[in-house]
Amino acid sequence: MLVAGIALRAQAPPSVTVIRAGRLLDPDAGRILTNQIIVVEGTRIRDVGPNAAIPAGAQVVDLSNLTVMPGLVDAHNHLALTYKPEPESNIYYYTYVAESTALRAIQAASNGIQMLASGFTIVRDMGNNGNYADTALRQAIEQGWIPGPTIVNSGIIIGGMGGQFFPTPEMAKDHNIVYPEYLDADTPDEIVKAVRQNVLFGARVIKICVDCKPYGYTADEIRLVIREAAKVGMRVEGHVQTVNGARNAIEAGIWSIAHSTGLNDEMHKLMAQRSIWRAGTDTPDNLAGHPVSPQAYQRTVASLKNAYENKVPLTFSTDADYYVAGKTRGEVCLEFLKTWKDAGIPNADILRAITINGYKVSETEKTRGPIKAGFAADLIAVPGNPLEDVDALRRVQFVMKDGEVFKRDGVMTPAAFFHGGPVNGWRIR
Ligand SMILES: [Zn+2]
Repeated sequence: MLVAGIALRAQAPPSVTVIRAGRLLDPDAGRILTNQIIVVEGTRIRDVGPNAAIPAGAQVVDLSNLTVMPGLVDAHNHLALTYKPEPESNIYYYTYVAESTALRAIQAASNGIQMLASGFTIVRDMGNNGNYADTALRQAIEQGWIPGPTIVNSGIIIGGMGGQFFPTPEMAKDHNIVYPEYLDADTPDEIVKAVRQNVLFGARVIKICVDCKPYGYTADEIRLVIREAAKVGMRVEGHVQTVNGARNAIEAGIWSIAHSTGLNDEMHKLMAQRSIWRAGTDTPDNLAGHPVSPQAYQRTVASLKNAYENKVPLTFSTDADYYVAGKTRGEVCLEFLKTWKDAGIPNADILRAITINGYKVSETEKTRGPIKAGFAADLIAVPGNPLEDVDALRRVQFVMKDGEVFKRDGVMTPAAFFHGGPVNGWRIR
């Protein structure tokens, strides 16, 4: 009986959904096509075009009043972390004293759902996630227990002693309070071991502190990280906050640089020459409870503008790991559009950064992202034309992830995403 049941399910044809797109945005070309038909079979896109054949028995989703487009990417977030004024004074040292990794993993699940509801179908989750809550989130989504974006996670951030923390000697030595937010790796042996630990515990990208401390990594030490990560096909992102750190990271040939404080005109020119991704985490000045001084905001905007003018490969990246009253995590991330607009970047290029470049920096661009036959069926729909008004992205009405409808008519409909058992196997690592 049981065996027969399994055989029957295996033979059942995958469900077919047809989307009628009034407008279809191709961010690569920066243009809109009208009256397109997207045929989705199971988890993948089977056909796209004005005359795509509609298979008999297909479920039809009418989005003829909306603009359908590929899903969004936040290239830098921390889903299992929330800075908050109470009780932590917005200091994340205290988050992992006060909150277990288990609790943070549940919060990450919630944040992932909030991101997906705002149209983010891919998130690079770049550390500060307790003891691998980021891996747990990725696995839970991949097993089909909960809805969420595709997670490209870094595991624990690797850095020289202390990471981004400044613990007291007692707390550092007796309680190892730096771990699990950072893996101390000061010598070549420790660097190799730290990379391997992250690989073992489910990272998909490696994140290092290049210059969180005055004894930050040299170009040679960064090369060692890159070599060790490359053995398993992984890229390396560097947290960079000084010009010297940026110079070392660029010289070593790092994949992506997070934050903009170390990036001046010279560094941007070098990054453009070497095709190094910029995950600038360009914070706007209008987030309640997260004040940014006018001077700091001007620097952020000027840096992003300079990067754009120098043709640095840009990703939309937020580092939005704090609570803004009244907003979901996804809505906070979309507030960052303000910085991009204030930097004078054309809408078409903002849209490329938040889609195409996001797939590239996440290394999904051959399987997931573009709305093309054979790709994973991830797509969203918004009213209006984002090429004319990029703030249309704040009004995501429809989200499909892996061929399942997650949001329709502006309302989350996630039932199809919850399973008691794994839909993609127990062996997900
Ligand atoms: Zn960050």
